[in-house]
Amino acid sequence: MIQLYIPLNFLGVIYREIKQSLADMDRLFSLLQQEREVADAPHARPLVIVGAEVRFEHVNFSYESNRQILADVDFTIAAGTTTAVVGHSGSGKSTLARLLFRFYDIQAGRITIDGQELRDVTQASLRQAIGIVPQDTVLFNDTIEYNIAYGKPGASHEDIVAAARAAAIHDFIVSLPEGYNTMVGERGLKLSGGEKQRVAIARTLLKNPAILIFDEATSALDSRAEQAIQAQLKEIAKDRTTLVIAHRLSTIADAAQILVLDHGRLVERGTHAGLLAAQGVYAQMWARQQAQTAPAAGEASADADI
Ligand code: ATP
Repeated sequence: MIQLYIPLNFLGVIYREIKQSLADMDRLFSLLQQEREVADAPHARPLVIVGAEVRFEHVNFSYESNRQILADVDFTIAAGTTTAVVGHSGSGKSTLARLLFRFYDIQAGRITIDGQELRDVTQASLRQAIGIVPQDTVLFNDTIEYNIAYGKPGASHEDIVAAARAAAIHDFIVSLPEGYNTMVGERGLKLSGGEKQRVAIARTLLKNPAILIFDEATSALDSRAEQAIQAQLKEIAKDRTTLVIAHRLSTIADAAQILVLDHGRLVERGTHAGLLAAQGVYAQMWARQQAQTAPAAGEASADADI
């Protein structure tokens, strides 16, 4: 019994960490049925994507009954557009993404994709429709090819190379002595933060999801790597419904909509220009960030959470 318990418990710990870090763990879910906190409804149907409009309607959510995390959160991400969420650390940004992936069920309100409530669709079809580029990508102790192919089990080598090229990591891979067969992960080659994000981008390109969640890294990469990653992300986000959890305001100035979250409430929304003109919380965050980055022009920009 103990022998069985330890590995299951270990998987449980990994599961919780991963759930917290928003990694794309669709396959791990199937290994961990016993750990699921949400289950398919008996009447659950596969999600049917039309344009991938995402709506949060008056959503209330708490992880624990005595502490509300989101209060009356209400917004729409129009099909094929980008919405960014900003706010202080702990304001609930990542929680929005976890709820869209249905890691947890909400206590009040509705979350819908193309009018279908998340509680009424199968989790497999929901997770198939959403791709996540997480802050810190989990790499398996396997080849780099496997790690990219994980975005689409059964993908051909040609598809994998095409995705790696589009994510600007192909040249790096072929420069390694064992190329696509190079072992990575804890016991293999350690990749930098930027290289890992590119693997995540390649995975997502292979998966080709209708909805994209991008959890921007809190620790900035060096500014050249950052700019290259931003350019690639803009490319994958084009015409896809995208939710960006933003830490640096400079990266989201062209989002169709910016939501400002404060202690679990949406306090402002609009475009970058509109929010600056409103001279509210966002404008203050922007001014603070500009002041922090101005003396060190050319270096990574400051963290918007502070
Ligand atoms: P950051 O910018 O630091 O990543 P955030 O705005 O994304 O923060 P969330 O991760 O959404 O914030 O967390 C919102 C609140 O929910 C925080 O107070 C956090 O402590 C709490 N919280 C997050 N995950 C859990 C959990 N699994 N159980 C209980 N509380 C949690």
